Amino acid sequence: MNSIKAVKEKLLKKEISAKELTKSYLDRINKYNKDLNIYLTISEKEALEAAERADKLLSEGQDLPLLGLPIALKDLYSTKGIQTTASSKVLEGYIPPFDATAVEKLKNAGAIILGKLNCDAWAHGSSGENSDYGPARNPWNKEYTPGGSSSGSAAAVTADLAVATTGTDTGGSIRLPASFTNTVGLKPTYGRVSRYGIIAMASSLDSIGHFTKTVEDSAIMLNVTAGKDNKDATTPDVPVPDYTKKINENIKGLKIGVPKEYFIEGLDLEIRKAVEDAINFYKSQGVEIVDISLPHTEYAIETYYIIQPAEVSSNLARYDGIRFGNPRKDFGDEAKRRIMLGTFTLSVGYYDAYYKKAMKVRTLIKQDFDKAFEKVDAIIAPVSPNMPWKLGERIDDPLKMYLADVFAAAVNLSGIPGLSVPCGFSNGLPIGMQILGPQFSEELLFRLGHHYEINHDFYKKEPEL
Ligand code: GLN
Repeated sequence: MNSIKAVKEKLLKKEISAKELTKSYLDRINKYNKDLNIYLTISEKEALEAAERADKLLSEGQDLPLLGLPIALKDLYSTKGIQTTASSKVLEGYIPPFDATAVEKLKNAGAIILGKLNCDAWAHGSSGENSDYGPARNPWNKEYTPGGSSSGSAAAVTADLAVATTGTDTGGSIRLPASFTNTVGLKPTYGRVSRYGIIAMASSLDSIGHFTKTVEDSAIMLNVTAGKDNKDATTPDVPVPDYTKKINENIKGLKIGVPKEYFIEGLDLEIRKAVEDAINFYKSQGVEIVDISLPHTEYAIETYYIIQPAEVSSNLARYDGIRFGNPRKDFGDEAKRRIMLGTFTLSVGYYDAYYKKAMKVRTLIKQDFDKAFEKVDAIIAPVSPNMPWKLGERIDDPLKMYLADVFAAAVNLSGIPGLSVPCGFSNGLPIGMQILGPQFSEELLFRLGHHYEINHDFYKKEPEL
């Protein structure tokens, strides 16, 4: 399996050069992308140049965390000199004059950027089908969605069209596609990774994270991207530990909460079984399992669908077609729906009834987690109530699409981190669970996820393309 760790070892042992490696990834992309629609832009020339630079540094004995590793970025990440569209025709042809902070950090760590990945336009969606360039397909079964909005990012990792990829999670867009594709997805604490240069969806909810093949790889990525950025005032000066350091520490004696509101009627039985098996595994390892309640969970989606469109309508106002990008008529139906919803809830007369009220409920949802974390170290829950669905199945029913995030949105409203870890299969399609913790508890989430992962085989499974 081509994890960051495994590929790095091959590079350091000179079993392969960065250039050969990059070429082999570009070959795979050219071979499979037509079918899977994962990459919107392949930055071949830039990637090969970066690979040459990496080989030079490798020959000098340099050891950067991601030196020579081919990765790819959700097309929401601004990349200097490389088209960035947010999968929307509004930004078609837009070439940013600068790199997002996260991109800059990844490049400085030696990573090679293979290209830009398909997603729902502006990250609005749960299936990738809102992309103006057609949906990415799930490598486990091409008739199914890989989840969204970071659909291409998840699909690229499981199909090994990149060693790792980046995503954004505003209401589940990393965890959901990770759970649909047998990949590890991290939604870090709000503010842990800089949002500077990443096209904003809903600024009080957007979290900048990534997809990897293993939990340890996820820790390696966060080591690079996390930290204070003077260009993003929401990144606090909280120290960044080496997230890989404690990953092997014993988990015995830890307390994991199981929230009853996440095991409701309507939860797919195979998903329920897979997550319960994982909980039993933790129990067998000396973890104390505690039944908990997060009573305001049932209001999370409603709250999210007031706050999020309000912020979306404000953020999308800057695309006026004058300074850059194309006219506003190019916005797709989903973006228009959210602009209208958001403008409505923010307007005079409705602000108090909707927006202000939603902000109060948001506080209650956050307090649920605060209280829970007084009793437990972490929480385990399913990521999605349903298995991946067939492309086309939900596209005419926005409400059904929104409900895919019932277990995801409360996490964003609370600003806490969540790690999606593969925990099973049903009918050949993957299942994921999410491990949640208090703000800035990523180190603990990696430890719990890693312990589960190395005692199970799911992460080794790869789809037949
Ligand atoms: N599916 C959710 C939405 O459509 C979440 C999107 C996201 O996290 N970017 O808003």
